[in-house]
Amino acid sequence: MARKTGRQFFANPGPTNIPDSILRAMDRPTIDFMDGEFAELFNTAVGGLKRVLRTTGDVFIYTASGHGSWEATLVNLFSPGDLVLVVETGWFSEGWAAMAAKFGLRTKTVAAPDWRRGVEYAAITAALKETPEAKGVLCVHNETATGMMLDLPSVRAAIDSAGSDALLLVDTISSLGSLEFRFDDWGIDAAVGGSQKGLMLPTGCSFTAVSAKAMKVHASSTMARHYFDWSEMTKRSFRAFMGTIPTGMFYGLAESVRLIELEGLDGVITRHHRLAEGVRRAVRTWSGNVGGPELFCLSPDRLSDSVTAIKFPEGFNSDAVRKTALEKFNVSTGGGLGKLGGQVMRIGHLGDLNEPMILGTLGAVEMSLKINGVPHGRGGVDAAMEYLAEAA
Ligand SMILES: *Cc1c(COP(=O)(O)O)cnc(C)c1O
Repeated sequence: MARKTGRQFFANPGPTNIPDSILRAMDRPTIDFMDGEFAELFNTAVGGLKRVLRTTGDVFIYTASGHGSWEATLVNLFSPGDLVLVVETGWFSEGWAAMAAKFGLRTKTVAAPDWRRGVEYAAITAALKETPEAKGVLCVHNETATGMMLDLPSVRAAIDSAGSDALLLVDTISSLGSLEFRFDDWGIDAAVGGSQKGLMLPTGCSFTAVSAKAMKVHASSTMARHYFDWSEMTKRSFRAFMGTIPTGMFYGLAESVRLIELEGLDGVITRHHRLAEGVRRAVRTWSGNVGGPELFCLSPDRLSDSVTAIKFPEGFNSDAVRKTALEKFNVSTGGGLGKLGGQVMRIGHLGDLNEPMILGTLGAVEMSLKINGVPHGRGGVDAAMEYLAEAA
């Protein structure tokens, strides 16, 4: 294989770039997780994670990718046969719903008329009124497959206005550390998060933040569980983990939180918005009036600040363009998931990124559109520069 020179520009919506200081922080010999040294590290790292989640409640942690946290959260909060409502956003809401069904939960989807727009919040209220026995509402904060985010306070309000006391479960895997998220203030009952997206860590840890209300429900839920059992975890050291603890991950997490707090959570959120807007300016220019690639998400107030999904014109394969970007320019982008395969390219702009990295990615994509003969308006990178210069 030909040598690839320079650094790869990694523009996937997860996993994401790992800052050098996190890599350095994790380059540590094994220590005994029962030692006092580790206890201090654990408390620092998890204390920081709670500040990022904006919660003072419990957080349970697993040696598993985000799917593990999906599973943990379901098995700890429900009993077989319980009904849960799933707010359809796209590939990830489908995946979580399919998992719930395999565990013997009854699922009812609040169907989106279309993945490009998602559901109206009023439809959640209506669905809960039809099925007042629903025990939970599952919702993906930022749908990584379509580049659409939901307004969680609106979801909370939709549940409250139905008079339902269903738990609100939120997947924050591609929003935490990138988009605004307030666990306590927004009345979330369980938040699922993972290490390898906004937290800029390697893949391998995920976690659930849990409200006091959800902990009460947990106490009487009867789903079979062991490795993921929060009650078991509560009996062990740190009250948050089962089995051998991946100590290296916690050096990384402590450094991740340090970086986030150095920039400031608000600074992190505005940077993500700025970079996302730069990407959107480029895509809108490519759309032009020539039927070029366009923003997949059609709701202006739901455009994701952590990932942009770009819909390709009929007859052009997004994977061919991705392949060109990777092979010729060493730029890695995300593809379309599920039924969007070949139709969508996803540019991840979450985690450790700056303007030149975004412009480099956009430049490679624009060149790849040209090479593949995909019709597009010229000057997408210029439009991004124009905006980013102004917003700097
Ligand atoms: C990445 C992602 C997942 C899956 O997480 P894994 O770590 O790959 O298991 C789930 N939900 C969302 C919204 C994601 O972006």
